Amino acid sequence: MNPSWSFRARRLSMADDLRLQRRCQALFDSLVLPTAITVSDLIKTISEQRGCSVRLVALPGFKVPGSACGVAIITDDGIVVAVERATDPTHQKHISFHELAHLLFGHRHQTVGLSDDRLNQLAPTVGVDRSRWHLVQARGNYDQVEEREAEALGTLLLARSFEPAATVTIDSPVLRGLSTVLGGRG
Ligand SMILES: [Zn+2]
Repeated sequence: MNPSWSFRARRLSMADDLRLQRRCQALFDSLVLPTAITVSDLIKTISEQRGCSVRLVALPGFKVPGSACGVAIITDDGIVVAVERATDPTHQKHISFHELAHLLFGHRHQTVGLSDDRLNQLAPTVGVDRSRWHLVQARGNYDQVEEREAEALGTLLLARSFEPAATVTIDSPVLRGLSTVLGGRG
């Protein structure tokens, strides 16, 4: 089991965790999403919300050991979300939804585990000079509340991508199945 799949960090109290889940469910329910949503659908929604371009790029060998496997780069010319290409399509979609969930929440966390050299390697793909990057957000430490929020909302979005029904909730059978597949047991 790839550890990046698992729902780690169970340090929140049950009450905190419940509140977090409710925040995620409320944000999810507030979105006007098509059924069987795709990553492209969500990118379009966020692009319209923010009034800027949002691009997703899949890069090989992008995983940072023990930490980030997706990055959102906010620049003067829009947002670029980079995800690992060398993984299975469902995992890649989950990473993409996780990163997009950070954008939906308006999280402002900073880079985790990406060296300056690695960021320089990303620059040609981003296509915007680094002096015009405002913020680099990397998927990483699941102990952070923001990471838990992005993971929970990202998983709801992933469930919606499989489930055409109008309602996907934290208690959705599809989500429970995903939780098992993603390692959310115990
Ligand atoms: Zn994250």
